[in-house]
Amino acid sequence: MSAALPLTLTGDTAAHAYDSVARISNEVAGRLAARLASETQGEVLFSAPDRGRYATDASIYQVTPVGVFVPRSAPDVKTALDICRDMGVPMVPRGAGTSQCGQTVGTGLVVDYAKHLRNIIDVDAVERTAEVEPGIVLDHLNAALKKHGLWYPVDVSTSAQATLGGMAGNNSCGSRSIAYGNMVHNVLGAQAWTSASQLLQLGSYATSSGKARELGNYVRSLAEELHPAIKQMWPKVMRRVGGYNLDIFDPQSERPYTSDGSVNLAHLLIGSEGTLALTKSLTLRLSELPRAKVLGVVNFPTFYRAMDAAQHIVKIGDGTLTAVELVDRTMIDLSLQNPAFAPTIRSALIDQPAAILLVEFSGASKAELLPKLKRLGELMGDLLLPNSVVEMTDDAPQKNLWEVRKAGLNIMMSLKGDGKPVSFIEDCAVPLEHLAEYTDALTEVFRKYGSKGTWYAHASVGTLHVRPILDMRREGAPKMRAIAEEASELVRKFKGAYSGEHGDGLCRGEWIEWQFGPKINEAFAKIKQVMDPINLLSPGRMVNPPKMDDTRLMRFAPGYKVIPIQTALDWRVWDVQNDPVTEQTSAPGSGGDPAQGFAKAVEMCNNNGHCRKFDAGTMCPSYRVTRDEKHLTRGRANTLRLALSGQLSGLDAADALASEEVKDALDLCVGCKGCKRDCPTGVDMAKMKVEFLHHYKARHGYTLRDKLVARLPDYAHWASRLAPFLNLRDKIPGLAALSEKLTGFSARRTLPQWKTQTFFNTAPRGATRAEVLAASKPVVLFVDTFNGTFESHNATSALKVLQAAGYTVHVATKTIADGKHLCCGRTYLASGMVEEAKAKAREVVDALLPFAEKGISIVGLEPSCLLTLRDEMLVMGLGEDAHTISQHALLLEEFLAREAVAGKLEELKGKLQAVDQPILLHGHCHQKAFGAVSPIMEVLKLIPGAKPALIESSCCGMAGSFGYESSHYEVSMQMAELSLLPAVRQQPDAIVVADGTSCRHQIRDGAQREAVHVAVLLAQQLRA
Ligand SMILES: Cc1cc2nc3c(=O)[nH]c(=O)nc-3n(C[C@H](O)[C@H](O)[C@H](O)COP(=O)(O)OP(=O)(O)OC[C@H]3O[C@@H](n4cnc5c(N)ncnc54)[C@H](O)[C@@H]3O)c2cc1C
Ligand code: SF4
Ligand code: SF4
Repeated sequence: MSAALPLTLTGDTAAHAYDSVARISNEVAGRLAARLASETQGEVLFSAPDRGRYATDASIYQVTPVGVFVPRSAPDVKTALDICRDMGVPMVPRGAGTSQCGQTVGTGLVVDYAKHLRNIIDVDAVERTAEVEPGIVLDHLNAALKKHGLWYPVDVSTSAQATLGGMAGNNSCGSRSIAYGNMVHNVLGAQAWTSASQLLQLGSYATSSGKARELGNYVRSLAEELHPAIKQMWPKVMRRVGGYNLDIFDPQSERPYTSDGSVNLAHLLIGSEGTLALTKSLTLRLSELPRAKVLGVVNFPTFYRAMDAAQHIVKIGDGTLTAVELVDRTMIDLSLQNPAFAPTIRSALIDQPAAILLVEFSGASKAELLPKLKRLGELMGDLLLPNSVVEMTDDAPQKNLWEVRKAGLNIMMSLKGDGKPVSFIEDCAVPLEHLAEYTDALTEVFRKYGSKGTWYAHASVGTLHVRPILDMRREGAPKMRAIAEEASELVRKFKGAYSGEHGDGLCRGEWIEWQFGPKINEAFAKIKQVMDPINLLSPGRMVNPPKMDDTRLMRFAPGYKVIPIQTALDWRVWDVQNDPVTEQTSAPGSGGDPAQGFAKAVEMCNNNGHCRKFDAGTMCPSYRVTRDEKHLTRGRANTLRLALSGQLSGLDAADALASEEVKDALDLCVGCKGCKRDCPTGVDMAKMKVEFLHHYKARHGYTLRDKLVARLPDYAHWASRLAPFLNLRDKIPGLAALSEKLTGFSARRTLPQWKTQTFFNTAPRGATRAEVLAASKPVVLFVDTFNGTFESHNATSALKVLQAAGYTVHVATKTIADGKHLCCGRTYLASGMVEEAKAKAREVVDALLPFAEKGISIVGLEPSCLLTLRDEMLVMGLGEDAHTISQHALLLEEFLAREAVAGKLEELKGKLQAVDQPILLHGHCHQKAFGAVSPIMEVLKLIPGAKPALIESSCCGMAGSFGYESSHYEVSMQMAELSLLPAVRQQPDAIVVADGTSCRHQIRDGAQREAVHVAVLLAQQLRA
């Protein structure tokens, strides 16, 4: 064993502790990594990018750890603890890293529980308890509990990624806490290691023994001694999560922690933010899943009256009231601007309210709940707001409205420019009777500091979220302190809790003493001392915390600078600044980004961790199969940010951007654009990967495979003449293996089959340019390389369907006849050849502009190609012409769905014969990113008898050439096996519709089924 290092963290201030660790980290890191690697089974991540990826969470802070450890089992944690104690290296436990106050950033060894330690150890459906490992995600637990009619009801908004260990660490609270309480109300027991590696069994104090009993006795004596101070200083609101739960022995919360008034020692750990012990398992109290819900949406003429009404609303419901959530005018407006949400929010509004409250009642049946809605209406009448309630009793509109409430926050977070909504006082909790006065006064404070806040969330418990817009690179830190000082005065005046939901961390640690006074603060230090005397666990949190505005600990620390680069794509739309009050942004390109907007686009990632989700939606397939931070949109954005700001191994940005470290992080990004749609702040990693590849390939050169993929559109026309010869690769044994060696295409894949006769060299031409420009029902068919070369019948079918519908169809061709077809440039982009892609795009513009200018739709078949015209072509420096084309570029199904709504497809409908097989639809991920999946459903429903079912899938895993590459074969198949292939196999008699060429290939390889393009199915159903 190595000798302990001379690290004296105890009693040190946090900032000093960080400095000490930072100074010796190189020496420590080597030995620590070696020991972890040899003595545990866990993953040991000590590279600069790995450490950088774990240096941030959803807060404004950044502290680089010595290293990262990903334990595979509980014994791994215990061994790591022994090693760290031996070497004097602090440990920072971490779940999903979604904390908003910097709870999971620190210089020690970050321990990532979320990847492997996520088992449900036991469920007792009768007793309604479950024992879980700390890394399990809340939604995953609840999915498993559903079959028992149970759930764990602390429904945090991050439920798709937050771990139970992290939720316990922060004493998290959900939207329905008025009915179910916080974490502390729903944890029955815990097993946890102290820094001395003692495994504590924490539960009922009355029946405790050994070390747990000793601890309980000690805390009890502290509580007894401090009774007067506790009585005087302790916030009485339920939403108090700051400090340690010393009040288990002197209850102060308006909601008791236990139903029988007993003391539970596990509650000491809840909200302790990893500073007292490392949780091994948690025993949870489960609740019955509510069988019915109804929603009353109360419309208010002023924000003040909404706040004032909350105190009265919470008194109705007789135990069935489960939520009172606020949506303010800004959020309403943002939702109204979004076409997807506008109808839903409109259905909840009466006239033009200044705010609405979503009041939810839950119970055994809707019939039982309807009188509650009536009572709500009566109450509002009593409050002189008659007829102000919109009743929603059906499940679908309720669900839609909750989605809008969440999305509003997302839109707010997507503000471009350096000013961002910053979370630091967003969860102060005040007693309901003061809510109106408090929100009014705080709005004034924001105004004073040249900012404003948008209010949302939990009116039921006096915790309204609000984030003033601050520029943390400039004057943000002092402004943050000034606002915090004034907010704290208000919290004190109204006898509230300064930390009411998101914990203390680096941001609010210094406010613990302010909130509880010196005596209780000292008691907290004593609790820390008795459980972690060597200050090994998350030092500098809760006890001896740093100043919240210590800019050295921040992501945009003094000296943060972006190193200039010349970008290949146009990122100027991100390169802006904003006005914190009006939220208006300056002109594109005026933001002062030395990386021409690329850095600002990357910095849009605020680390909220939403990309760690596994639910519906596409983002992020590579994380879904690896569960690695590195292969996650957030990990990639962080890697790029560190590279662009010269924080990767001291490389300058130009070197760092083209480095193997960045390549490593982006390698499994399949460019699915899932993040473009699903990321709340609009991080578009697919586009960023194109930019990266441009720089990387410029430095390292293109491989033969790159060239074969990228230049396919250029050689396809002559290669098809050699079809019989080229197809031998998949016929003669050994040739596939040889080609794998030469090109890197996996021998386990067949390649698309070449044909001598293709759409491009044989198909009927359709109308001329002049004919279509003069036609009454004109359309232009853009046939891409893949459908035109390998699957010509898709293009022929599309032509047939459009003609059957009565359209004059022109097949798009180049203006200069060079024997080649038009190409969107997608294959070049995928290989990083941006200049070549621009040349292709220019040809597209030249050929198609006259049609677009006349308002004629340009219809395509391959989602990734056609949608390039709507996406990447706009950032290739082609100006307004590209925009004009993008406005008229549609996928076949989008075009047909639109025309059907306009009543223009009656002719086609009359020609379609019924289908009697089930239809399964797999949406291409680019279709999903552009909301183009529902049009396919609509178009399929034009076929009599068709009842298409959508497969809830992420990316198919093939993603262009990704899945063909031998280095990606395994991951590609794992992505397909997540949901797509099992769903296809489950319905052997179904017609499988998939518009993506690579999706169809993946389905053939993985499920041995022939999927078809929607055009083919429509053409097949046409009467002769
Ligand atoms: C957009 C957004 C919305 C949010 N909404 C809510 C909300 O509605 N309600 C709410 O309460 N919070 C909310 N949060 C805050 C945060 O998501 C929650 O606190 C969440 O429960 C944290 O879970 P996590 O797995 O990310 O924990 P982490 O952030 O990884 O960790 C949280 C704390 O737990 C400690 N910890 C983790 N694992 C262990 C372990 N095994 N042993 C000991 N300590 C451990 C960590 O050290 C840290 O102190 C929100 C955050 C964001 C970004
Ligand atoms: S990439 Fe998007 S979803 Fe993921 S953490 Fe960053 S902002 Fe959140
Ligand atoms: S493009 Fe797809 S794979 Fe790449 S980061 Fe975004 S969601 Fe993940």
